[in-house]
Parts: sequence; C-alpha cells; structure tokens
Amino acid sequence: MSLTRLSAPILQAAGLNPNRVRVLIVDDSSLNAFVVDNQTIFIHYGLINRVDSARALQAVIAHEAAHISNGHIARRMANLKSARTTAGLGIALAVAAAAAGAGGDAAAGLAFGTSSSAMRAFLAHTRAEEASADQSAGRYLRSAGVNPEGLVELHEIFRGQEVLSQGRQDPYMRTHPLTSDRIRAAKAYVSAYGNGALPSASDAYWYARMRGKLSAFTRSPSWTLRRAASEPYADVRHMREAIAHHLNSNLPAAVAAIDRALAARPKDPYYYDLKGQILLEGRQTGAAVAAYALAAQGAPSEPLILGAYGRALLANGQPKAALKQLEAARARDFRDARILRDLGQAYAQTGQPGMASLSVAERYALQGRLKDAGYHAQRASGLLPRGSPAWQRAEDILAAAERYNKRSN
Ligand SMILES: [Zn+2]
Repeated sequence: MSLTRLSAPILQAAGLNPNRVRVLIVDDSSLNAFVVDNQTIFIHYGLINRVDSARALQAVIAHEAAHISNGHIARRMANLKSARTTAGLGIALAVAAAAAGAGGDAAAGLAFGTSSSAMRAFLAHTRAEEASADQSAGRYLRSAGVNPEGLVELHEIFRGQEVLSQGRQDPYMRTHPLTSDRIRAAKAYVSAYGNGALPSASDAYWYARMRGKLSAFTRSPSWTLRRAASEPYADVRHMREAIAHHLNSNLPAAVAAIDRALAARPKDPYYYDLKGQILLEGRQTGAAVAAYALAAQGAPSEPLILGAYGRALLANGQPKAALKQLEAARARDFRDARILRDLGQAYAQTGQPGMASLSVAERYALQGRLKDAGYHAQRASGLLPRGSPAWQRAEDILAAAERYNKRSN
C-alpha cells in the first residue's frame, strides 16, 4: 500500500522490520499520531491531510519509530503490567476492523477509546523522550535519503498550540509536548546536515495517491469530482473519481473510472482491491471475487487484501475458498477483528463449530471483552479435540479470562 512505500525506508533506518511494524491510518479527522506497542504506528487521517508533503509525513513516522526504537514503549508496557491497568485500557493492543470503507490502502479503527484519561496518560511522552525521538528521527530521515526539513514542517503545524488550553489543543500536542527548544533543535539539525536531499518522485506519487484516496473517502463526492480535475497524476485522478462515483452509488461510472486507473497501471493490486470493494458494495459478488483474485495475485502477503478477498468469497457463497484466504490473512495479522469475524463465519459455514467459537473468543479477547471471550472459549474448548493447537488457544483465552474475573471481583 502507498503508506508502506513511504514508511518502509524510514522503519529500516530505525532498525525496525517493515514486515513486522505496521503503519495504520485511524479514521479520525483530528491531528494525532501515536504508538501503543512495538508493532504498530497509528496516524489519524487528519494529520496526513494536514502535513501536506511526503517528507513531513515521513517525519511523523520517523518520530514515532524512534519512540519504539528508543525503548519508550517497552518501558511503558512494563509499567502497565505492574500497574494492573490493562483492563482499564481495554487492552491497548486491540485493533479493530478497517474503518469507513477505505479498504486495503488505508484504514484501521480502534476498538478502544484513545480519548480516555487512562489512555492519554499511557500515550503521553515526556519532554526528554520528545527531544531524543526528534534527534533519532533526524538521523533516520537522513539515512533513508529523505529531507529532514519535514521535521521542522511538522513542528510548525503545532507551533502556537502551546498557549492554548488543553481542550483546544490537538491530541498530538497533548501527547507530544512541543517546546521552542525542539523547533530550534530541528532547525539546527537541518542546517548542520543540510536539506540537500532531492524529493523522491516516487515518494511524491505515493503520497498523492494515499491522500487522494483518503480525501475521496472522507470528503463529499461533489468536492472530489470538482477537485480531481487538477490532480497531476492521471491514474490518481481516475481513482479519486471512481471513489466519488462509488459514494454516489453510481456503479457503472465507478467501475469505468477504476478501469481507467487500471489501464494506466495494469496489474496494480491496490487498484484491483478498490475495484473489488466497489463491486462488492455494489452487490456484484462474482465480479468482486474476480477483481480480488487479481489483487491477491499481485499482493499475496497483504492481509487486508486477503481478508477482503475472503469476505467477497463468503458473500458469493464459497465458504471453503473463503476459509483458505481468511486463514492466510489471519496468519499474517492476528489483530484484525474484521478478519476474525469473517473467519468465524467461514468456519461455521464449513461445519467447524469449535473453530467458529474460537474465532469469536479471539475477537472478543482482542477487543478487551474478556468475559465474552471466556464464554466462547469455554464452548470452543468443549468442541475442539483435546490437546490440539486450537484447543490450546481456547484454553489460553479461558485462563486469561479467569485471571481477569478474579481481579475484577
Ligand atoms: Zn513524540
């Protein structure tokens, strides 16, 4: 996905594995970016729209990656366990279904409230952590060949918010305290190491594509259709128009537009993914399956695409084929609640009630609903062959639920 193209070199420079650390977009228009564990960086789409350049977005990613690499999260997780507040956070690790239709290129919703005071305290960084994260971020950007000026641009967005009351600040500002020292340090870094890095043509393209998709899904179709004409990349323009027609429920126009994008970039798996989504939501399940098959062929290890392919197969009455795709998706991303929900259906429809109950239990556990998880894990444990790996998974959830019940009584 386009975000992966922009983030992979930064994550690598931070010593993180781009296949393990994911950058997910949160369906929220306020400005924020944060990490809750060592595997996921969350960015609100509001911040992506606001930063206005690939390099500033890459600065956001570099800064969050530094919070991981510098151990700020690991320490917090350790404190969290001892402080016994996991339940209060609703298990911070929970990541829920993809949001508002943005599909494989973008999107995650969160199963927990990032606005709760416990969560805010968990996410808040100290000024010392902020300074060290900035310093590391500058280094990562430089070694990835990205102009570190993006870091200054990022800080400029929040400059001035310091004087606002907390209620009027953006959430990013509350969790990442900004001082004039930080802006000065970033500027000093740019002048010391130069901002000579040329903007990469490919970064600019992927940034335009990601923003085009996000804005088309979040703005009104008429706004998109008016603005898309001035989009410099022809295929991105067709994609934006396809989404606008789709939101207008004009299926033929949407399909024609995404086909024009595909004509410009044949085999692009993310355009096939979008075509599959348009067709599936337009109830053309057979055609959706065909589009997703091509998407999965081009991106065989992308869990969001495999999950969507499985969903289309389920809708098309092919639970056995769906199960294969959904199991592959789950193997690559065990934290996607939507995949688990579809997987439960596929197991139920292929006569595997024990596995179906286990999927339901795992989904509830991810969402921090341990009582419900325990109930379904109990069912699963009774149905699954004793001693099998799946039975063991059910037993693990059951044990966690019992610990939780004991604590909360
Ligand atoms: Zn920070």
